[in-house]
Amino acid sequence: MALHTGRHFLQIPGPTNIPDRVLRAMDRSALDHRGPEFAEFGFAVFSGMQRIFRTKQPVIIFPSSGTGAWEAAIVNTLSPGDKVLLAETGQFAVLWKGIAEKFKLDLEFLPTDWRRGADVAEIEARLASDKLHQIKAVLVIHNETSTGCVTHPLEVRKALNRTNHPALLMVDTISGLASMEYEHDAWGIDISVGGSQKGMMLPPGLSFNAVSEKALAISKANTSLRSYWDWHDMLEFNKIGTFPYTPAINLLFALREAIAMLEEEGLENVFARHKRHAAATRAAAKVWGLELVCLDPNAYSPSLTAVMTPEGHDADAFRKVVLDNFDMSLGTGLGKLKGRAFRIGHIGHFNDLMLMGTLAGVEMGLDLAKVPHRAGGVLAAMDILKNRDVVAMPKA
Ligand code: PLP
Repeated sequence: MALHTGRHFLQIPGPTNIPDRVLRAMDRSALDHRGPEFAEFGFAVFSGMQRIFRTKQPVIIFPSSGTGAWEAAIVNTLSPGDKVLLAETGQFAVLWKGIAEKFKLDLEFLPTDWRRGADVAEIEARLASDKLHQIKAVLVIHNETSTGCVTHPLEVRKALNRTNHPALLMVDTISGLASMEYEHDAWGIDISVGGSQKGMMLPPGLSFNAVSEKALAISKANTSLRSYWDWHDMLEFNKIGTFPYTPAINLLFALREAIAMLEEEGLENVFARHKRHAAATRAAAKVWGLELVCLDPNAYSPSLTAVMTPEGHDADAFRKVVLDNFDMSLGTGLGKLKGRAFRIGHIGHFNDLMLMGTLAGVEMGLDLAKVPHRAGGVLAAMDILKNRDVVAMPKA
């Protein structure tokens, strides 16, 4: 293996780069989670996460990867045999479906070609035809990390409202949270699922459920078996600023710091920064002549860009050339995009020059791997980034 110097470029769409401030915040002894100092700290992270999810409702923090919060959303509110709709937007929808099936839900998978967001008109048609209200929940991936396509949760909420359908709306915003607009309350989301290792700029290991009053009431009445993931045990302890079991204390120190950083920049500015980096990345791909996985401009993801390699050129072979030569990790193609696409993460702790380094690594890699393309993508991205008029400025 070649000896690499300097910093590794971790340009996958999660886990993302961790700011030094966040690393330093974790680098201390744990705290007695039943002791006098903990409650104030606990309340600070709970209210911080409410501000990030834009909710007045509880945000439950689990010591788990995002997959745990997926499971928690299901086991708290649904029972075997319950009918649910899930849009097949990509590989993460396939994985959430896998969990739903293990819990014996009656899942209807609404297919897409993995190149756009969910088909909201189709969801609406299914809801409209469900006169007996057998559908108990609609599940959507906000930002499908395997394709770089966004489904706008508010559009799904509107479809539920137009059809006067009482199903719960569950949204996975694991790779959307803190990198693009998200409004748990204003968009009428019942359960939001989040994770720590993407826009939140933390190591993997924390996950989140923001829960509406309606979801809480349904979960209280739900008798299906659960223990570790039970919201109510958790909320009883959260009321006094702590947890029913040993929390991931040092990750919570990291979380408090990350929330402070996001709020210093201002969430609106964080979102504008991600959009700008995504636009610069797409401009580069356009000059390279490489197709984006996402075919719908309204669904372009601010947090990652998935790029197809031309027929006959293996995307993983290209990624290996980039890793071996430039010490940069790009995201692999997932599921049916394996070998056909690679993903550029521009999410989390990131800036213009990190993006330039990333795109330069991609362009040089395309050359070395002999992937047919036009030169000049990096220059096109520079043209966007050097326009300082659109740089979001930190608050005060
Ligand atoms: N959902 C989405 C949209 C994701 O991007 C991921 C991880 O990349 C997950 C769910 C699963 O989360 P985890 O790998 O943290 O369990």
